[in-house]
Amino acid sequence: MALFKRSPSQEPSVVAPPATARDAPEPSDASAPDVLESLRIRLQQTTLPEAAQAVARRELQRLQRTDPSHGEYTVGLGYLEFILDLPWRKSVRERLDLAAAAKILEQEHHGLAAVKERVLDHLAAAIMVRQAAARILVVDDEPIARENLAHVLRKEGHEVLVAGNGEEALTQLEASPVQLLITDMKMQGMDGLELLQRVQERSPGTDCIIVTGYATVETAVDALKKGAFHYLAKPLNLDRLRAVVQEVLDSQQDARTRLAPVLCFSGPPGTGKTSIGRAIATALGRPFGRLSLAGLRDEAELRGHRRTYVGAMAGRILHEIRRLGCNNPVLMLDELDKVGQDFRGDPASVLLEILDPEQNKAFVDNYLETPFDLSRVLFLTTANTPERLPRPLLDRMEFVPFSSYTLAEKVEIGLTHLAPRQLEAAGLPPAQVQITGEAMAALVREYTREAGVRNLERAIGGVCRRLARQVLTGERTLPAVIQPEDVARTLGRPQRPLPQGCGEALPGVATGLVWSETGGEVIQVEAARMRGSGRLLMTGSLGRVLRESAQAALSHLRSHAPDFLVDPDFFHQHDIHLHIPAGSVPKDGPSAGATIAMALLSLLTGRRFRADTAMTGELTLSGRLLAVGGVKEKILAAAQAGKSRVLLPRAMADAVADLDADVREAVTIIFVDDVRQAAAEALECMREG
Ligand code: ADP
Repeated sequence: MALFKRSPSQEPSVVAPPATARDAPEPSDASAPDVLESLRIRLQQTTLPEAAQAVARRELQRLQRTDPSHGEYTVGLGYLEFILDLPWRKSVRERLDLAAAAKILEQEHHGLAAVKERVLDHLAAAIMVRQAAARILVVDDEPIARENLAHVLRKEGHEVLVAGNGEEALTQLEASPVQLLITDMKMQGMDGLELLQRVQERSPGTDCIIVTGYATVETAVDALKKGAFHYLAKPLNLDRLRAVVQEVLDSQQDARTRLAPVLCFSGPPGTGKTSIGRAIATALGRPFGRLSLAGLRDEAELRGHRRTYVGAMAGRILHEIRRLGCNNPVLMLDELDKVGQDFRGDPASVLLEILDPEQNKAFVDNYLETPFDLSRVLFLTTANTPERLPRPLLDRMEFVPFSSYTLAEKVEIGLTHLAPRQLEAAGLPPAQVQITGEAMAALVREYTREAGVRNLERAIGGVCRRLARQVLTGERTLPAVIQPEDVARTLGRPQRPLPQGCGEALPGVATGLVWSETGGEVIQVEAARMRGSGRLLMTGSLGRVLRESAQAALSHLRSHAPDFLVDPDFFHQHDIHLHIPAGSVPKDGPSAGATIAMALLSLLTGRRFRADTAMTGELTLSGRLLAVGGVKEKILAAAQAGKSRVLLPRAMADAVADLDADVREAVTIIFVDDVRQAAAEALECMREG
């Protein structure tokens, strides 16, 4: 490596090319010294934490000795620029206004009442912490000293109360608790140490700073022993005072923030999780960033590669912080549950390092090599199926469930939120275009099949762009009304695959309802019989729980064969094959147990499963039906597939009662206790023997 040698006496911050430079190979970039000089100036002007400052200074010195034509020079420049670009101390001023936050959440989202409530609770607690952390009581019997101190602290933006003696201070504290007490040591009557003791007995959450003109080691130690956070000598050094006060308040805030769990929005895609996150950021006046963790393979993607790697870069967290330009943005880590299975390293520990304020205060990116404080970032997370998250992460999260939208909700969201946005995106004035409710309902029913509204938004976009084209070519004029015919003309015949189970049912086929991370799903369970020796074959990528459910269903039917009018010898002479179509999609869970029993019973008795019916429920070996989850999603999926009856285990009656009326009334719900009752309701021409 060709180096520019510097004489030891040279001041490192002076970056003019050294005299020896002429002997070295010609730098390829003639402006290299200018670049370094501008970096030096930036370094001087930026207030970096001490450790970062040292790292940056070292790097600058190294660059000054490096030949600009050398690859390392460019790498070093990139590194230094990255350090200088990071918003180490730059934060945006937060807006702590709960009413404004409520208004923004309401304006931007239809429905989601429970979600909004939970988010506002969370924000209210955060606002209380911030506000509470700024109240300070100054106690001094010298009015001038007291007022001066109060003045300095008020200028820092703190709320300051004052008291002229210990008794007065205690009375004040009774009326309004404070987070920090700054008291003079020597006072008439009750002195600072006694006050400190009394305050600690009454409100242990209050920190104290003792100030005195008679500084001695003993009194300081005594004060600290009695629980003072700090001890400051008079005359006060104002910078020191500000720093100590900030340190106390920060540590209090951190301790409280640490108690607050990280919000995790869970639920199917397109149900507004990201959008609520963005609204939280808008409400707080902080910038919003989003990182998708889906398929993440290597922890280095999150926290950078060491600089010894070729092409090393910082991780995505710090890149995003740099892009957002402040150290307190709202950062949403999306799809936490989708971190790649083959993740190199332990995803839970990396994510905890990022999300846990105990640890993220000193987050080390491998590239940066010096800690960056992430504790001021408001992290939000999302997960489609939170059960998949590792335990330590689960413990840090507060889950806010988002559920599927009903047809009516989708139509309303489409009309009031998605359509205006898509019209604007297509250059059409929303006031001049009316999309009718019927057209929106057609879009929902016939062109989308989803729990959320993501595809709906896309479909609306398609219709709006077609209208824009028609307006441009003079085929149509504004104002315009979009009717269901316009939808069909633009999007063609409905692309949505016919819902499962719509065709003529054959004996041996039953319709079930299961829950997947994209919402409720209607599935078909098929059973076939053939000559054999009593084997049960299962296909369709069935998981262990599902296979065991099938075994239990078959055993129940075999053990009760006469009750179901089935020849007990049948089982010795036949094999049974059970299949759930969409064979490449792995399926598991107990929800299909009862449906499997119906498919088998239908096969064995020749009675068809009713075409207007779908069912869900776990099955026990004794034939009882047990409750399963995702009831709202399942009912909506059944309704969307055109089913008018849904059979549910009676144990789900409470869950159904908690649903909104429009969900409950979307289908006729029939509660059943066991296989016999289910068969009576689900299979046609039941003949009691
Ligand atoms: P997710 O993050 O859950 O996958 P998004 O937040 O990306 O879903 O939502 C998809 C789209 O639907 C966004 O444009 C969002 O604004 C819109 N959206 C979803 N739910 C609502 C709602 N309740 N009200 C208004 N718009 C909504």
